[in-house]
Amino acid sequence: MNRDTSLRRILDRSDPWDMAVIGGGATGVGVALDAASRGYSCCLFEASDFGKGTSSRSTKLVHGGVRYLQQGNISLVMEALKERGLLRRNAPHLVHDLAFIVPNYVWWEAPFYGIGMKVYDMLAGKYGFGRSRVLSKDEVLERIPTLETDGLRGGVLYYDGQFDDARLLIDLAQTAEQQGAAVLNYAKVVGFAHDSEGFVDGLTFEDVEAQEQHRIRARCVINATGAFCDTVRRLDEPRAAPMIAPSQGVHVVLDRSFLPGDSAIMVPRTGDGRVMFAIPWHGRVLIGTTDTPIDRVELEPRALPQEIDFILETAARYLTRNPTRRDVLSVFTGIRPLVKSSEVASSAALSREHTIHVSKSGLLTIAGGKWTTYRKMAEDCVDHAATLAKLDERACVTRELRVHGHDEDAERFGELSYYGSAAAQVCELMSPSADLSRRLHASLPVHASQVVWAVRHEMARTVDDVLARRTRALFLDARAAVEVAPEVARLMAVELRRDPSWANDQVAQFNAIARNYQIESY
Ligand SMILES: Cc1cc2nc3c(=O)[nH]c(=O)nc-3n(C[C@H](O)[C@H](O)[C@H](O)COP(=O)(O)OP(=O)(O)OC[C@H]3O[C@@H](n4cnc5c(N)ncnc54)[C@H](O)[C@@H]3O)c2cc1C
Repeated sequence: MNRDTSLRRILDRSDPWDMAVIGGGATGVGVALDAASRGYSCCLFEASDFGKGTSSRSTKLVHGGVRYLQQGNISLVMEALKERGLLRRNAPHLVHDLAFIVPNYVWWEAPFYGIGMKVYDMLAGKYGFGRSRVLSKDEVLERIPTLETDGLRGGVLYYDGQFDDARLLIDLAQTAEQQGAAVLNYAKVVGFAHDSEGFVDGLTFEDVEAQEQHRIRARCVINATGAFCDTVRRLDEPRAAPMIAPSQGVHVVLDRSFLPGDSAIMVPRTGDGRVMFAIPWHGRVLIGTTDTPIDRVELEPRALPQEIDFILETAARYLTRNPTRRDVLSVFTGIRPLVKSSEVASSAALSREHTIHVSKSGLLTIAGGKWTTYRKMAEDCVDHAATLAKLDERACVTRELRVHGHDEDAERFGELSYYGSAAAQVCELMSPSADLSRRLHASLPVHASQVVWAVRHEMARTVDDVLARRTRALFLDARAAVEVAPEVARLMAVELRRDPSWANDQVAQFNAIARNYQIESY
């Protein structure tokens, strides 16, 4: 992916695009990929970086959703379980199965969750990831030696999927480009164009880097801006009633010693009645999440101190070593784009299913859903868009489409496995140059070559792009990420031909962002 090439393609086109997508999260990139792979012409605009919104801040689960099973939403669970299977098949370098254990401390939990997980297995059918079973206390402790033993009776083992959200997004954007879409980051949509009958037939976007505005024409415009979708709808219809009831979810990241081994913990009911996970991820442990209704939607949401305390207190109940604030390596917060419903009060009960809304002017908005179902959401959306724009009907092909980097045996690349088949090329960058094979920090799995690779091939434009989403440094250890920021800025400045003042500005901007991830600032 190259930003200059994408921008030129977008500006050089005089014919209208079949579809123009706004938003470079899982939803928007999924739609662009679906549209392009059916042969529709398609461009995509992301105001910041791909995945800067919620799509890099998830719990990293590709799952049917045990909570939705508890809520009795069988069709949602079945659809998600099918998508889970398709995603593991199409992106095996980024999605793998993970063992989860529900620890049992009360007599009825083993039969209750044991039967629940059997239903989960059954609903997955041929897309199943492994059979659930009831474990004895010893078997549980063998898998999770740091689990609180006081009152422990046993546990229930089941399997679900885990992935790297931001990395999958970059690979989906690469796949969309390969299929013919033009995808552009740092391109904010600031207005719409309408034809003589008032139908949306184009948009104005700002090239945030050049600070220039441009117009493009499109047969259908798709608003896939997640929690931001109401702001974008109001560019078209200033008095549009809000669709989204935003709520934020916080995760904390701890050292792996809190949860050694390869199994995750699933707590089916926390003190506030929610599900919570402790999951091994990239050599750390990720614990979350919360569900706090919020009034304002921001690109860098900030955790509340009480959300962090709640996570640590809940974790302390299940782990032998109580994690404290001093143990927190990173805190990250995401906003759920939940579709509003007047009948339910708590956001944990709002629908995770997606909604497609068409305004009077023909602006199509897709919102809600979850990462796991991004492909199905995109399929539904492109079906609608094609009908709306009176385009030829073309069948969806993404069920079988391999994602960029597809590699069944990516584990052989060790720390670089998340690049999949591209890891070999990242390694090639290292071999001729000792400078590029350098690891940038003892606590981070990031090499100089990855910075250069991100700029040359993954459209990274800022230090935040590299440290938060092309590598996951900011999520793994925020303080270490701040320490490497000057070196990352220096490497990027060489690649992007920028001067030292650009690098200094980048470091200052990154440090401001990183404050939200550092426990010291709470
Ligand atoms: C805490 C938390 C945990 C979650 N965990 C999971 C999980 O484990 N598994 C799972 O399946 N799902 C999970 N989800 C749900 C999932 O992450 C989201 O449903 C999904 O990422 C939403 O993607 P999106 O593309 O709709 O929104 P976003 O990722 O927020 O993307 C919207 C994009 O639109 C851009 N934008 C906004 N305005 C404009 C404009 N004017 N012009 C151009 N671009 C614009 C933004 O910059 C942003 O990048 C979780 C959600 C949260 C909050």
